[in-house]
Amino acid sequence: MAPKKLAAGNWKMNGLTASLAELDALAARDNGCDVLICPPATLITPAVAHAGEIAIGGQDCHAKDSGAHTGDISAAMLKDAGASHVILGHSERRADHGETDAQVSAKAVAAHQAGLVTVICVGETEAQRDAGETLDVIASQLAGSVPDCATAANTVIAYEPVWAIGTGRTPTNDQIAEAHALMRDTLSARFGDGADVGLLYGGSVKPGNAAEIFDIAHVNGALVGGASLKASDFGAIIDALAKA
Ligand code: PEP
Repeated sequence: MAPKKLAAGNWKMNGLTASLAELDALAARDNGCDVLICPPATLITPAVAHAGEIAIGGQDCHAKDSGAHTGDISAAMLKDAGASHVILGHSERRADHGETDAQVSAKAVAAHQAGLVTVICVGETEAQRDAGETLDVIASQLAGSVPDCATAANTVIAYEPVWAIGTGRTPTNDQIAEAHALMRDTLSARFGDGADVGLLYGGSVKPGNAAEIFDIAHVNGALVGGASLKASDFGAIIDALAKA
């Protein structure tokens, strides 16, 4: 089974009820590949009603099922709200909330137990790239953040260089290819079905650069922030992926 193509949108802390009109527009399209939108938690249940074939996901979950964790949300709650996926270990969570690889892995275990597909993010900072540490960082984050229960059915990995997120800057095609080849080799060596785990690139993917990025070996789709907020932009990215 080859990895499935996936266009995933991360709305981050953006979106009010009126934003569901963007979802209506996406749901009305002939998308030609799997599409996932991860709105803020407040919109998950209403989003499901607007999503049609589009999958809806959360942007984080707690490692525990329930308890005294004010402001947090469990994997079971996301599932109950209608989510099928959850993004974990996004660099903004790692930076803003000090999330470690071990915490990301524990969250992924909880998400898999709740029946969610995890989109686990890895990627180097600019300082790490400048220091020549990119491949070591990716390998180490994969080893620490992806739990042993990961399979091609319950896990997608997103390579997101921190310095490319929201900046309009992207790595060269060779740099993306190098990172994705490392991820494919690492996952294939560790998991029986590692060759089938979907690998996404994320970081300033736009309608204008999507087709070129989707041509790179082992890039099975994208995790998109800013350009996922408007159906017209995200639709163009979806079309580029469907054609790749
Ligand atoms: C992201 O936050 O996952 C992301 C890739 O953002 P952007 O597309 O805006 O760079």
